[in-house]
Amino acid sequence: MPKPLVVVTGASSGIGAATARLLSAQGHPLLLLARRVDRLEALGLPDAMCRKVDITDRAAVADAVAEAEAAYGPVDALINNAGVMLLGRIADQDAGEWDRMLDVNVKGLLGAVRAVLPGMIERERGTLVNIGSVAGRKTFPNHTAYVGTKFAVHAMSENLREEVAPHGVRVTVIGPGAVETELLSHTTDDGIKAGYEEWKKENAALSPDTVAQAVLYAYGQPQDVCIREIVLAGTRQQA
Ligand code: NDP
Repeated sequence: MPKPLVVVTGASSGIGAATARLLSAQGHPLLLLARRVDRLEALGLPDAMCRKVDITDRAAVADAVAEAEAAYGPVDALINNAGVMLLGRIADQDAGEWDRMLDVNVKGLLGAVRAVLPGMIERERGTLVNIGSVAGRKTFPNHTAYVGTKFAVHAMSENLREEVAPHGVRVTVIGPGAVETELLSHTTDDGIKAGYEEWKKENAALSPDTVAQAVLYAYGQPQDVCIREIVLAGTRQQA
């Protein structure tokens, strides 16, 4: 039986790239989305359509999904992973950074759901995996705007599950603690960045492959079993 199509957003690095590699190794055709399309192509995965898409561009996301479905059949799972973390103090952080995190982490996630959900409802089958965070469960210093977006991911996922459960569609939230990826590199405050880098070392960040395994565990359950939430962090992560 050929494996069905899976969409991975933000597959150009970190957790998204690790998840794309793992799902590809399971035999799934993939639609990989990110702005750095060269990084998607460099993964060198078979049956992987790579498209340069900004996740905030809802029309472009929908077009890419339609193109991939025409090539590989209906989307069976969406791994909603694209995200940005711009740490800062609300007193002096550029408010444009709040906009960017809300646009990508919250509205971008909803736009990707919209692109696949009507088809899933019609087919009475599908899986939405939203990448939340431990920072979607508790707060951390200098994370105010970011935790707002990640609490939103957890809350929206709960609500979305209520909406789609009667249609046989699953919603899973994966909430990782610190993971060794490029995520921190986009924070513009060098002092905050250096402090977090130290904290990550002391708290033994996870490998992105470990998070990808959690995604696969949830997705790999029979369609009538919904793993609602997995929150995972390095054993030595204290907060
Ligand atoms: P990375 O920075 O390595 O990856 C982020 C991915 O998101 C990249 O592929 C990037 O692609 C993509 N992305 C960012 N902005 C956009 C955009 N506007 N349009 C399309 N794609 C975009 O970080 P992680 O792998 O760590 O992050 C993945 C997810 O995991 C995020 O949602 C993050 O919040 C979450 N997370 C990460 C943790 C960590 O400690 N690393 C902990 C908990 C959760 P490109 O730049 O090419 O567009």
